[in-house]
Amino acid sequence: MSQKKGYLLKGKVIDGSLNPPIDNGAVVTEGERIVWVGRAPALPAQYTTAAYEVIDLPGRCIMPGLVDAHIHISFGEARTEEENALYTPVEFRTAKALYYAKKVLQAGVTSAFDAATTYAVGQAVRDAIDTGMFDGPRLTISGKQLTNHQGLEDSFPSTMEFPIGQSAVLIKTKEDLIEAIRLQVKDEVDAIKVSGSNDNLITPDALGSSAFTLEEFRIIADETHRLGKICSVHARSRDSVLEAARAGFDNLFHASYIDDEGIEAALKNKCVITPTLTLLVNLIDANQETAGASGTAAFRREVEAASVNLKRAYAAGVPILAGSESGWSPVPYGQWHAREMQIFVDVLGMTPLQAIHANTLLPTCLMKRYGHEVGKLEAGRFADILVVPGDPTADIRLLQKPKNFDFIFKGGEPIDRTPPRPRRRKWYERQKVFLNGVFEYDEETGGGKLVQ
Ligand SMILES: [Zn+2]
Repeated sequence: MSQKKGYLLKGKVIDGSLNPPIDNGAVVTEGERIVWVGRAPALPAQYTTAAYEVIDLPGRCIMPGLVDAHIHISFGEARTEEENALYTPVEFRTAKALYYAKKVLQAGVTSAFDAATTYAVGQAVRDAIDTGMFDGPRLTISGKQLTNHQGLEDSFPSTMEFPIGQSAVLIKTKEDLIEAIRLQVKDEVDAIKVSGSNDNLITPDALGSSAFTLEEFRIIADETHRLGKICSVHARSRDSVLEAARAGFDNLFHASYIDDEGIEAALKNKCVITPTLTLLVNLIDANQETAGASGTAAFRREVEAASVNLKRAYAAGVPILAGSESGWSPVPYGQWHAREMQIFVDVLGMTPLQAIHANTLLPTCLMKRYGHEVGKLEAGRFADILVVPGDPTADIRLLQKPKNFDFIFKGGEPIDRTPPRPRRRKWYERQKVFLNGVFEYDEETGGGKLVQ
């Protein structure tokens, strides 16, 4: 931080709400807060003194830092369920998560909602950032997903114990739901996450019924709200999104198969939807050859359904939030956080301004502790600000190139933009392979050859 009181930023101001941008705008910061936003000609004289460092670059937009509504800071870019649930000691996972948190911040993401952690890594990373030890976004942390035998993450054979490193906890009775919520709240989660359905990534024919009953969803929502937290559901099937919305869940993840009944319940109970289409679109683009459920065709079907159903939900007035799913290998940290906005424009028909709103102010509704202090350029809020070359309301893709941003401010200070050095992997992170293939005997040569 300079010796100055703060900064005077000039340019086109996009404030994160749906207010029309201010062409000839200015934003003033003091310490870690924004103190003034408006039209530059109306700037009060007190902010034109030398006490404020002026940043006035031609053709720039000034907007809030991105607020990503769905990341997993503890997943380490895992490629498989095994990698995420079994391998890598918790201590090393935590170190990795701190490393990746900086990359997320350097992509212009100044706040993020973590949609399920392994162990309690998420809380530790959040607190390490908040106490000033490491660089990263302001984090809101969901605990391990509450799941059952029909939910996501109960993916290992029934002959083995449910792995302690899984990003979920296996629930067997209604009483256990209450106990799991109370334990997670004791362990300082910000939010409760429930696995309401399965997923094409993991289970064939995954998009059938709901993992939990309406009664069970109600128990979860009531206890979570009683303890002052918010609850989200992983809901890819029609029934899971409907029942969770009826039970009063705050946030419905994915909701690809939401129908009119689901939309009605979401509107009635003021639920928001966070689709995370980036994961599916990236999986399609990666064009993996895997046959069956996790093949490209299944993801393509889901995106097609989601584009129809979510468009209807959005038109009906259900708020749609932008989340990237960063943390899995199809969505590595620091690279794809702004792609969801482009998908919202291309697939859901949002305007770029609506898409920016969905990736800044809107997701702050998931952030109970500090949501009212971020996500918008407004006096009193934290100065979490991007200075972006060009105009993202004309071309939303500009936000996918954070290296081009002139400044990323978090709490009134420009962040360190030096990329973390590339890391190497430890042998214990992924899987334990004896040999990558089968060493078959070749009668002609009398030797062996490696066959995949
Ligand atoms: Zn997720």
